[in-house]
Amino acid sequence: MTFSGSLHVYPRSFQRLSALAFGLALLLISQTAIAHPGSLWGIDLSSVVALRDQARIAAYRSAGAPGERLNRVSTIVLDPGHGGDNSGAIGVAGIREKHLTLELAYHLREAIQERYPDVRVVMTRYWDTSLSLPERVHLANLAQADVFLSLHYNAAVHNRAVGYETFYLRPQDVTPEPAPVEEHTDHHDASPIEGARLVGQHGDDLVFIQRDLIRAHQHELSARLAHSVQNGFRGHLDSIDRGVKQANFGVLRGAHMPAVVVEAGFLTHPDEGSRLIERAHRQRVVNALLDAIVNFDAELEHVLDDQP
Ligand SMILES: [Zn+2]
Repeated sequence: MTFSGSLHVYPRSFQRLSALAFGLALLLISQTAIAHPGSLWGIDLSSVVALRDQARIAAYRSAGAPGERLNRVSTIVLDPGHGGDNSGAIGVAGIREKHLTLELAYHLREAIQERYPDVRVVMTRYWDTSLSLPERVHLANLAQADVFLSLHYNAAVHNRAVGYETFYLRPQDVTPEPAPVEEHTDHHDASPIEGARLVGQHGDDLVFIQRDLIRAHQHELSARLAHSVQNGFRGHLDSIDRGVKQANFGVLRGAHMPAVVVEAGFLTHPDEGSRLIERAHRQRVVNALLDAIVNFDAELEHVLDDQP
């Protein structure tokens, strides 16, 4: 079959291939007993996922479907919180946060790629694997992400806490130097970010000024991203807006791009905790985060256009 001859049938066969690959991926996510499902029946699964992305982009392009475009955001890194030995919070429905965040990340990735096929969406983990906080940030920096969303669900020692909130770093913590981590929720990892130092630290005043400017810019954009996420949630979720907050989260320190921790709801709240595992609710969270990315992209366009 020639490439041009396959144009009309490709979308259908692509859908089948795509469904098969996605089914396989979902099957593996559900196989929680498999801690490191790097391969199944001799098939390297990360290659399957990567192949699926390639196939999707090729299908859109060959079908002549233009797809929508973002102005400034071309790479998004989604960080499904926790994983492997680190389960995160355990909710009222008995579900572990690490599974919910992974499921959310897969669905958000799917939604972004369907609407914006040219946008690259990278996940820090694709399976139920352990990953340190520095590794997550390092991956985002390596991917040269324009946006970094660390996805979490919240927990509290009492069951009254409810609602969604988004965190970005305090200004004094934007520095990539290792520092003690202050825990804001009771279930977060607490290891410092290492590495990710800016190149060219030679005690030169100009280097320090440039570095401060970059940090200030990154900090301001992270604040905008955090507000975009909260606005997205307000538009889609019928819960309490706990607001944008600043904290010293290890998973944000050292990030070179706008970066936030998203807490999409309390697993420990009797009502919200059981709602969070519903498919319809997850779709609302996906829609909220998709809106947030689109709005942030528009803001970014505006901010960068205003710069001299
Ligand atoms: Zn968490």
